[in-house]
Amino acid sequence: MTIRASEWIWQDGRLVPWAEATVHVLTHALHYGSSWFEGIRVYDTNRGPCFFRLDEHVRRLLESARIHRCPVPWSKEELIAACHQVVAANGLARAYVRPLVFRGYGTLSVDPTETPTQVVVAAVEWGTYLGAEGLESGVDTCVSSWQRVAPNTIPPQAKAGGNYLSSTLIHMEARRLGFDEGIGLAPDGTVGEGAGENIFVVREGVLRTPPESGSILPGLTRDAVFHLAHDLGLEVREGPIAREALYSADEIFLTGTAVEIMPVRSVDRLEVGAGGRGPITQRIQGAFFGLFDGSTIDTRGWLQRVRAEQP
Ligand code: PMP
Repeated sequence: MTIRASEWIWQDGRLVPWAEATVHVLTHALHYGSSWFEGIRVYDTNRGPCFFRLDEHVRRLLESARIHRCPVPWSKEELIAACHQVVAANGLARAYVRPLVFRGYGTLSVDPTETPTQVVVAAVEWGTYLGAEGLESGVDTCVSSWQRVAPNTIPPQAKAGGNYLSSTLIHMEARRLGFDEGIGLAPDGTVGEGAGENIFVVREGVLRTPPESGSILPGLTRDAVFHLAHDLGLEVREGPIAREALYSADEIFLTGTAVEIMPVRSVDRLEVGAGGRGPITQRIQGAFFGLFDGSTIDTRGWLQRVRAEQP
């Protein structure tokens, strides 16, 4: 999906015109993958444009940078304000917001201590990630020949730019073979996650998902599903999932900020359940999307109204 340019990008403390938000070619992050980012959605809700879980996203952004010992010259509150500012300045009612912390221009050495940290926040209009029709009919997936990174190698819990080399390989392979998305296994052969999504496997009415200590990014949508499933009286179990459980599941769905709640129609050309969106997936989707039209009460303060542009 090509980017639809908006007018402004927040860069190191000020709004700059889209075309002028540039960096030097010797930026550390370009060479070594030393960047940390978030994807945050703004929904046009019955209460007006609202961020979904903005606080938690900015917290994870700072934690990702901290894991890699990268100092960030902005506080959580300042970064939250930057997100509000860039959405408001661009006049977006629904948006995908992309804050990015990265090691900038200063050294060609892998030692980043001489390198300044730069921060940008972009906001663009963005539709459904794997296609709107997928939300109803489900998407076709394959188990990738590429595994996810092992724990205590490149930390999977940090949402770092470099980690997405793995996601890119998994996604490109899937597309090349005619699938919509690829599923990466953990190094022990159990189920990991999609290229940019967490995964839930439903069997006999119980939802299961791989543990956050494994080779996954513990997503905020995944966490939202834990809560929404609880509200619906559904059981969720976190634990290792064998690859073959993908082939005997009643339902499978992917979760993520971009993909939202996406049913999986098939894995490796084997239909999942009856081969479309299953009833439990549909209930989770209903509860999730209900947050944005008001039919699900936001009891946990996940929605935060976009503040009008500050002077
Ligand atoms: N895993 C990976 C690899 C991802 O890129 C994402 C998207 N950020 C997720 C899981 C889901 O995370 P979230 O629900 O917080 O967007």
